[in-house]
Amino acid sequence: MLEIRHLSKAFGTHAVLKDIDFTVDKGDVTTIIGASGSGKSTLLRCINLLETLTTGEILFHGKDITGRGVNSSAYRAKVGMVFQSFNLFNNLTVLANCMIGQQKVLKTGHDEARKRALYYLNKVGMAPYINARPDQISGGQKQRVAIARALAMEPEILLFDEPTSALDPEMVGEVLDVMKSLATKDNMTMLVVTHEMSFARDVSSHVVYMADGVIEEEGDPEKIFSNPESPKTKDFLKRIL
Ligand code: ATP
Ligand code: MG
Repeated sequence: MLEIRHLSKAFGTHAVLKDIDFTVDKGDVTTIIGASGSGKSTLLRCINLLETLTTGEILFHGKDITGRGVNSSAYRAKVGMVFQSFNLFNNLTVLANCMIGQQKVLKTGHDEARKRALYYLNKVGMAPYINARPDQISGGQKQRVAIARALAMEPEILLFDEPTSALDPEMVGEVLDVMKSLATKDNMTMLVVTHEMSFARDVSSHVVYMADGVIEEEGDPEKIFSNPESPKTKDFLKRIL
């Protein structure tokens, strides 16, 4: 579905991503792990076109969506993103937060947008809070709303950038449970940057370990966690587990 080929990204002279290659197939749940500064967020931002690539290409269903003159709006609508800091509109209700993107970007009508928003809010257990504003609900609840908002756009792939890192510890579980359910029950295609090694090990189908802007090692969770090959991977896991 998504093919990253020879992706490099530099900020000025600082090479942050160097020749990244990997593929995400439909239904894959890929976790990206690695130390702070290794380039994980930059990679996600390149994939959803929040950053321009320095070199390389991104193929979506076989078509390069990074080329000059390519209209990327259809692609953008197919790629959902969940941020560490929720990025909800504080002046809108929970329900309106889950409708506005559909209405503005997809031009979905009010009633259909409302119906879809309610469906996905119900899915993440936030139906009782539709009239609340983001500042009236907890961090875990905000993140569940952010997930519902992304789902309401009916993306083909969902990107998560450390969705639980800004949460109080007691709220991490409720968000991971929602993500786990999306992965296992709904077969959602997901690319998840996370420090939650239990999620990477138990839920993901593929683990990518990044170090200093390169993919140092990747494979199924069993191999990465039980039998890593690279000394850098071993060292990282020893420090984090
Ligand atoms: P963390 O785990 O802390 O979130 P990360 O793996 O997500 O780290 P990135 O945020 O992708 O790392 O950053 C990788 C490198 O790119 C860092 O050295 C960072 O300072 C640099 N960087 C990121 N964005 C920019 C930018 N807009 N301008 C200049 N440098 C940047
Ligand atoms: Mg980051």
